[in-house]
Amino acid sequence: PPPAAAPQAEAVIDLDAVAHNIGILREHAGSATVMAVVKADAYNHGAVPVARAALAAGAGELGVTTLAEGLELKKAGITAPVLSWLHTADSDYAPAVAAGVELGLSSPRHLAAVAAAARQVGAAATVTVKVDTGLNRNGVSREEWTDFLKDLARVEAEGAVRFKGVFSHLAHADEPHHPVIDDQRERFTSALADAKRIGLAPEAAHLSNSAATLTRPDLRFDMVRPGIAIYGLSPVPDLGTFGLRPVMTFRSRVALVKKVAAGEGVSYGHTWVAPRDTTVALLPVGYADGIPRALGGRLEVWLGDDRRPGIGRVCMDQLVVDLGPDGAGVREGDTAVFFGDGERGGVPHAQDWADALDTIHYEVVTSVRGRTVRTYV
Ligand code: PLP
Repeated sequence: PPPAAAPQAEAVIDLDAVAHNIGILREHAGSATVMAVVKADAYNHGAVPVARAALAAGAGELGVTTLAEGLELKKAGITAPVLSWLHTADSDYAPAVAAGVELGLSSPRHLAAVAAAARQVGAAATVTVKVDTGLNRNGVSREEWTDFLKDLARVEAEGAVRFKGVFSHLAHADEPHHPVIDDQRERFTSALADAKRIGLAPEAAHLSNSAATLTRPDLRFDMVRPGIAIYGLSPVPDLGTFGLRPVMTFRSRVALVKKVAAGEGVSYGHTWVAPRDTTVALLPVGYADGIPRALGGRLEVWLGDDRRPGIGRVCMDQLVVDLGPDGAGVREGDTAVFFGDGERGGVPHAQDWADALDTIHYEVVTSVRGRTVRTYV
């Protein structure tokens, strides 16, 4: 059979780039284990293939948010440790405990619920405690910490849980010299000392996300938890790329090339009116697929051998690009790249969208959706 036509909207995921980025993170991690954070479907790159590529490249553990994300990895046959760290205390923990998903705990209610599930399943749950060191989001608060540890020691002695680690998350990691980072390190170290004092011996302490892994070697502890850097996006863009390679290329193909006469408006509301006779390309991708409507009039697409302006409004399913009077040699079926592995000035980068939208590249890659088909290279 003839090869299937390329999808209309495609997120190409470069697993060699994942391996390369894990290599960079391992260099920075020193003797600490790299836990690859593959939550939110690996930041929208596909949890199972990214997890496999990351482990093959030397990551030692995986981190996710929800129980379902943890179970997905276990069901795919991944045997490496998987930590799931955010759930409501009334969650059904039994399937996760039975599958060996390690659980992050953030309150006494979570500890009680996990211990009850472990007794029901008849296997100890491996737990890592999240301590709140100042982000004031998820985690056991400082006020509850000592009582929490005493509860934990009791439940561990009964055999319902195995206490593996303590972790926390930074508020200002993308500002490597921010004093709050030092405050959090101090609080983290003192939380670890409290655990030792009552006879608990966590084997894995971890605090660093991507930014801290790459800029603050003093925060390595036993493990680091990078996410965004695995996907090749710099956690501190002002400090450069750290040699990371973007993993996702978001692209499409030209559905139609046609002439538009001077004075004609293009797309809803005619917000763009042709200043001269021109040629336009129609791309069959829109805001339903993750091209924000707010980029209308500010979008640049790599098409042919140059960046070309998106014109008029981005629609639900399509957008229009100006090719200039001579059409620049662009033909129906040609590939158009929205963002990818380009240098600035060449193929656009997720950071270009982030700048235009006043957001961060994390949101750009996780917004690709709808009918976009993922392919792996
Ligand atoms: N650890 C925790 C607890 C997180 O919530 C996240 C992501 O937000 C990460 C690590 C990874 O962060 P980053 O993608 O900035 O490396």
